[in-house]
Amino acid sequence: MASSTAARNSGSLIAPHGGELVNRTVTGDEATALHEQALTLPRVHMSEKQTADLDMIASGALSPLTGFMVQADYDRVVEDMHLESGLPWALPVTLSVPERPTADRLALEGSDGDLLAVIEVADVFEADRSEEAAKVFRTTDDAHPGVAQVYAEGRVLVGGPVTVFQRPQSAFPALHKDPADTRAAFAERGWNRVVGFQTRNPVHRAHEYIQKCALETVDGLLLHPLVGKTKGDDVPAEVRVRCYEVLLEKYYPAGRTMLSAFPAAMRYAGPREAVWHAICRKNYGCSHFIVGRDHAGVGSYYGTYDAHLIFDQFEPHELDIEPMFFDHTFFCRTCGNMASAKTCPHPSEDHVHLSGTKVREMLGEGIVPPVEFSRPEVAQVLIQAYRSA
Ligand SMILES: [Zn+2]
Repeated sequence: MASSTAARNSGSLIAPHGGELVNRTVTGDEATALHEQALTLPRVHMSEKQTADLDMIASGALSPLTGFMVQADYDRVVEDMHLESGLPWALPVTLSVPERPTADRLALEGSDGDLLAVIEVADVFEADRSEEAAKVFRTTDDAHPGVAQVYAEGRVLVGGPVTVFQRPQSAFPALHKDPADTRAAFAERGWNRVVGFQTRNPVHRAHEYIQKCALETVDGLLLHPLVGKTKGDDVPAEVRVRCYEVLLEKYYPAGRTMLSAFPAAMRYAGPREAVWHAICRKNYGCSHFIVGRDHAGVGSYYGTYDAHLIFDQFEPHELDIEPMFFDHTFFCRTCGNMASAKTCPHPSEDHVHLSGTKVREMLGEGIVPPVEFSRPEVAQVLIQAYRSA
């Protein structure tokens, strides 16, 4: 019974980007043999970002990519957000090397030094990283953390398909689900329409409201906090995950909510990253994706709604996954509920508003913010984290 349900529903989930879920992982004897070959090849040490990208290529989270980008894909992505094939793609996924390699195969070493994969060198090229920064990040300012990272990687890039014989260590093994796993889990629960939510911040009432508004219109909600590398001053992933766990336990319907870790590294590319995040979630089986204000932004590099407007640059249905745009939300004392400027006619004095700085101050002093702003269970987790920090 269960298997026939899964079989029926799996056909109704959104197709992966490009039609097929990529799998670049080998296991068993094949993995052992490739590992042995890798030991004889020149090695490339990857950054945390590149290691995260490799892991996502391995699992199909970056379908249809089968490896790091060759120049034709890189150029077109930087220029107009499409792969050479014409498929939409928003961010370069590149492997940098200190100097041009002479071998046609290279062994790839993860950020922690483990040997993970082999790349077949299809292309070696020099990238104009300042042009990339200007087009992808909309700034060439090296104070931008994503731009600084790209500059630090250097100009020489190697493209080609990868074969992964050992997946990088999962930051949250308990929350690790590959796209094939989330797709199977959605099908098993009978979800066809699933909305994905991305965050790198602790979850407050405003996020909960947005998530639940979205869930009202679909079958299931995938809470997909990013656990890859972030800036040092973002709240640590284990704290954010703990916030989700206490919240889900008490306030979310278990049969309609799934929590899993999104292994990507942040680039802080704002609007472009919002599109990229949506495409990745499509591979995980999401038909809808929530895009908030200043999604994946940093500092004041992007306008509040840039991450919404960028989706207009694609043809209708070109991305297939449906973005769901949300404005800033808050509790309105006069409405007596959560609202936004779209749904509440009252002046801002009626709204419970706390700045990020104010909230951090309160939590640091062990003060629980008002219940209209944050669930007390979440506040306790954050207070605890501030105390032990
Ligand atoms: Zn109101």
